[in-house]
Amino acid sequence: MPELPEVRAAAKRLDKAATGKTVAAVKTFHPALRRKLSPQRARIAKGQRIVSIERRGKHQLLHLEKGDAIVTHFRMNGDWEIGKTSDPLHRFARAAIELTDGTRISLVDLRALSQITIDREGESTVPKLGLDAASPDLTAEHLKEALSKRKIGIKPALMDQSVLAGLGNIYAAEALWLAEISPKAPASKVPMPKLEKLVDAIKFVVGPKSKLASRYTEKGAAKHRLAVYDREGQPCRRCGGEIARITQAGRSTYFCPGCQR
Ligand SMILES: [Zn+2]
Repeated sequence: MPELPEVRAAAKRLDKAATGKTVAAVKTFHPALRRKLSPQRARIAKGQRIVSIERRGKHQLLHLEKGDAIVTHFRMNGDWEIGKTSDPLHRFARAAIELTDGTRISLVDLRALSQITIDREGESTVPKLGLDAASPDLTAEHLKEALSKRKIGIKPALMDQSVLAGLGNIYAAEALWLAEISPKAPASKVPMPKLEKLVDAIKFVVGPKSKLASRYTEKGAAKHRLAVYDREGQPCRRCGGEIARITQAGRSTYFCPGCQR
């Protein structure tokens, strides 16, 4: 489940492989992705130089020289596979960006839930996003304001990309554990000292120097380092209590009822 740190790492690989190069073709191989990007629409990108890569929340944008942008989102399982156009296509390649130097950037996704589209200059299919979770501008005051009208639990509120961009199920749970906040706490009523702890925790889990994040990007290696996520029934590393799992907004939430109050 790619969240901000994984998407940041993916965008870095994309930048290295694509920036400054020219698009030969953008191809979609799966009908679900083709619905959002028809072959005719994909032709807009052909012959355009990729001027920069931008990560916006969990979206990755390839800005093109004429002001258009290739907009991608990994959703639950997506990732880039970077190779050559002469390589055999990955079994789960759902789309590919081919460059004139022979580089092929495949969007690989077992479940084909990823998205790729092209925005013309002035258009944007990226929804309105809150402040980036890794932004240095993130403060407790900012978070208080962003949460002030949210009549939901703090955990689903943190995953709402219009509140804060980049956090998903894993890091929202980990940050709440670090800050000792119950995921069920009403989002608009979390007191200021707790929000201060929460902001520090968010910066720890998604920040550029996050040890947790760098471990997590090693393909699941960090799963063992996570404090609560996917650890139902196991002992809490802080209080020894048993990690519980509940469902919030249709998603599993892992937390320690002993020390997250
Ligand atoms: Zn605990």
